Amino acid sequence: MPGVEADTIVVAAGRSSRMGGSDKLATDIAGRPLLAWTLDALVASPAVGRIVVVTSAERQAAVAAAPWLPAGVLEVVVGGARRQESVHAGFAAFDRFTPDPSGVVLVHDAARPLVDPSLVTAIAEATARHGAAIPIVPVAETLKRVDGELVGVTVERTGLGAAQTPQGARRDMFREAWRRFPADGPRTFTDEAALLEACSIDVHVVPGDPGNLKVTHPADLRHAALMLGTAVRTRTGIGQDSHPFGPGTPLMLGGVAIAGAPRLVGHSDGDVALHAVCDALLGSTGLGDLGRLFPADRRTRTGIDSAEMLQDVRRRVEAAGWRPATVDLTVVAARPRLATHLDPMRDAIAGLLGIDRSAVNVKASTGNLDGAEGAGRSISALAVATVEIAR
Ligand code: MG
Repeated sequence: MPGVEADTIVVAAGRSSRMGGSDKLATDIAGRPLLAWTLDALVASPAVGRIVVVTSAERQAAVAAAPWLPAGVLEVVVGGARRQESVHAGFAAFDRFTPDPSGVVLVHDAARPLVDPSLVTAIAEATARHGAAIPIVPVAETLKRVDGELVGVTVERTGLGAAQTPQGARRDMFREAWRRFPADGPRTFTDEAALLEACSIDVHVVPGDPGNLKVTHPADLRHAALMLGTAVRTRTGIGQDSHPFGPGTPLMLGGVAIAGAPRLVGHSDGDVALHAVCDALLGSTGLGDLGRLFPADRRTRTGIDSAEMLQDVRRRVEAAGWRPATVDLTVVAARPRLATHLDPMRDAIAGLLGIDRSAVNVKASTGNLDGAEGAGRSISALAVATVEIAR
C-alpha cells in the first residue's frame, strides 16, 4: 500500500517520574537528546509525513528552536496532564493544517528511540487497511499477581501481549472516540488502543519488536545509549588511486617529499597516497569523491598540493557532522624503497587530519614484481578510513 503519509503525533510531555526526576527526553545520547533520536527513527519511515511534537510548557520553546528538529515537524505544542490530553492536543494541531488524504494518524512515545522504521511503516499500512492497528509483543516472563510482599497467583500468559507504539487509527475514528470520551473527561486511557476499545472499534494486531524499548528507568537509558551509540557512531569508507611515474622530482607521497625519487604524473602534485585517504574519508561520509571536488581541469590549480586537498576534505567531513577517527593505508610501489618513509607519512597524515598518530597506519608492498607497480612504472594506494560522529 504505497502512498501512506501518516500525520504523526510524538508524545513527549511525560514527567519522567521513574527516572529520579531527570528529564529523560533531554538526556544526551552520543551527542544528541533522546527525543532527537526518536524523531530521526520516525522520519526514516517513508510512511511518516508530518509530525507534531507534544511537550511540556517548560520545554516547548527549547524543543521548537532545537537544531536537530527534522524538517517534517509542523509544530511543537504543549500537552496536558494526562497522555490522552497530550495526544488530543497534537491531533488538534493537525486540524489547523490540511489533513493528509490517507487519514492515517500515528501516535508514538518519544521515549522509544529504538523503534525500527519498518515497524512504523507496517503500523501505518495496517491502519490504512484496517482502520486501527498497534504493535504487540508476546510477554516473555511468567506473570504474577503480587499481593504486598508476597506472590499471589500466576497469571495465565496465553493470549496476553504488551502494547507498544506507534499506535495508529484513522482520523475519523479518533474524532469519533473523543466525541464519546472527551480527552479532558473523567475516564483515563493508558494508550490510544484503550480509547478505541472503549468505543468498540476493532484494533488490528501487528507483530511488535522486542527491541522497541520504552525508556522508563535509568537502566533503560544506558541500554538505549549502547544501542544507538554503536549503531550510528562510526562509518567506514574506502579509497583507491594509482599514478604513473613522470619527469621531475621529488616524489610526493603520503604528504612527504622524497628527494631523488621521480615524481608521479598528475594534475595535482600526484600524491597517490593522500588521494586514496581523501577518497576513503569522502566515502565514509557519503560526500562523493576527489575527482568531483577537484576536477583535473582548469577548475583545479595545476600542481596543487595534495595536503591542501586533504585539508579541504577534512573540513567537508567536519561540516557534515563527522570527524576522522582512523586511517589504514597500503602503498604498492616497487620503487623507491619506502621503509624509512612510512613513519614520516604516518605523522604527516595524522597532522593533516588532526588525529593521534596511533590512529594512522601506513604500510608498503613492493607489488611482488607484478603489474605496473611491481614493474616500477607506477604507484598505487589503497586506504580505509573511519569517521565518528562529532559531539
Ligand atoms: Mg589521484
